Amino acid sequence: MVKAVVFDLDDTLISEKEYIRSGYHHIARIIEDRFSIDKNQVFDDLMGFFNVSSLNVFDRLYDKYQIEYSKEMILDLVKEYRGHFPNIQFYGDVLPCLTELKKLGIKAGIITDGHKIAQRQKLKAVQADEYFDEIIVTDELGRDYWKPHPKAFELIREKLKISFDEMVYVGDNPEKDFYIKTICPIKTLRIMRQEIVHFSKIYYQSIEEDFRIKSLEEIRGYL
Ligand SMILES: [Mg+2]
Repeated sequence: MVKAVVFDLDDTLISEKEYIRSGYHHIARIIEDRFSIDKNQVFDDLMGFFNVSSLNVFDRLYDKYQIEYSKEMILDLVKEYRGHFPNIQFYGDVLPCLTELKKLGIKAGIITDGHKIAQRQKLKAVQADEYFDEIIVTDELGRDYWKPHPKAFELIREKLKISFDEMVYVGDNPEKDFYIKTICPIKTLRIMRQEIVHFSKIYYQSIEEDFRIKSLEEIRGYL
């Protein structure tokens, strides 16, 4: 019997692309203030660079405008990006799913990797505390405890006072979200959303999810 559903955050509950757009809008405003370059142009540049490669986007921006820059200037933009309060929302199927879980007496949790400041800002922006019983940001435990390390799953199992075989984990990333089933008897669901970042990644240790869903509306079939 399922007693808790635990979710990944990025591209499971919120859109990573929407977050990236929000972060680049923030950076574009800073660049406009500091260098008097039109923020809409800067935003388009950042998205264009990102769509080619997610690496060194800010370096390439400074290069384009022939602005001399230091490592500190790049780190400052990274800090601004991670620290900004993002303009993001849950995917449309999230709150109806949580309402249904609540009706059934099933608890809800989040386990998320990613930089701890950025992840906390995302969680605050969608008021996740109001909707979830327990939230674990693995980066707060230490970089070594990012998924697929089992520590966060052990912690949330304790906090939710359930056993692993009463837990379902919903994630999107083949590189880290489903390997847990080889360590703990958790049922894993892969959500296949459109236009997500990790759609074509390779399964860690070739371990695949138990089931695939296209929307959280399908979750009731796995409870
Ligand atoms: Mg994810």
